[in-house]
Amino acid sequence: MHISDGFGRRFSYLRLSLTDACNFRCSYCLPEGYKKCGGPGPLSNEELMRAARAFSDLGIAKIRLTGGEPTIRRNFDVTAASIAALPKVKTLALTTNGYRLRERAVSWRKAGIDALNVSLDSLDPDTFLAITGHDRCIEVQQGIEAALIAGFSSVKVNIVYMKGVNDHEVDRFIKLTQDLPISVRFIELMETGDHAAFFRKHHAPVLDVARQLTKRGWTQRIKAADAGPSLDYVHPDHAGSIGFIAPYSEDFCKTCNRLRFSSQGDLHLCLFGTFGIPMRRFLQADDQIPELKQRIVAAVRRKSPRHFLHQGETGQTHNLSAIGG
Ligand code: SAM
Ligand code: SF4
Repeated sequence: MHISDGFGRRFSYLRLSLTDACNFRCSYCLPEGYKKCGGPGPLSNEELMRAARAFSDLGIAKIRLTGGEPTIRRNFDVTAASIAALPKVKTLALTTNGYRLRERAVSWRKAGIDALNVSLDSLDPDTFLAITGHDRCIEVQQGIEAALIAGFSSVKVNIVYMKGVNDHEVDRFIKLTQDLPISVRFIELMETGDHAAFFRKHHAPVLDVARQLTKRGWTQRIKAADAGPSLDYVHPDHAGSIGFIAPYSEDFCKTCNRLRFSSQGDLHLCLFGTFGIPMRRFLQADDQIPELKQRIVAAVRRKSPRHFLHQGETGQTHNLSAIGG
């Protein structure tokens, strides 16, 4: 069984948000820090597992745990292990700000997490502090080394590329890939409802950096059929690779292979969609799972062919911590 939309796109990848709360205050995401909004609170473990079971029954083979900061959820390791144990889940991935990575890498690996994305927007401690509100730059870098030792199948470092903030650090990030088998990925700053002025000041196209790389002997790796939107580059002298995520590029939506489920139980068909489809009422008992699956399949058929960010339409996305980036 699989889920597909009206444009021939198949969905085998789910980004599952464990919480919308976060302990960091990234300037492009939650500059004022996390503010609890009212409402019923995040899904319970039982609700979360029903959602994960429904999606995996529908052919979702890769689940990424995200947030907010997913690792601040209570009993995070137990939740991760339960999802990893679902027989049809082939890859369990985690996106984290890395604040506990150094200490927790081994136990997260043991819980069954295969792949790791770590956000690290600067290699300079002062800039890192200015961006995130936390003086943890060195700790996060040590966490990345700990993750490599712990044996994750893939370790990716995510950098939100910002003009006037960290664009001068590109070469330092590229150098990281010389000896480390990691993928360093430059993510283009996306406009969200809360940060139009920040976006205007700091947005710059990441594909400009990609063009520079090709002049320096890097070549674009051919994409696998089921690959996501990242454009990846390799170089014979580098153990790792460099990736670019360019949501404003023409073809970005064509390769969309992912769905999003918020920590409140809403299905999001697009990061920049204008609505989430509430599913929580179908997560209350195991015998609701068949109906939940039917509703997911029907909703995905209505997925729009593309986002409208170019026209400045950020949908209902105030910041990416609410949906999970
Ligand atoms: N807290 C975790 C982290 O930071 O890795 C996971 C959630 S975060 C919302 C997921 C990803 O979205 C991170 O890589 C973050 O850098 C990225 N992100 C957040 N806001 C963004 C924005 N406005 N533009 C581009 N990327 C953004
Ligand atoms: Fe938190 Fe991640 Fe948003 Fe930074 S990007 S504020 S770490 S959710």
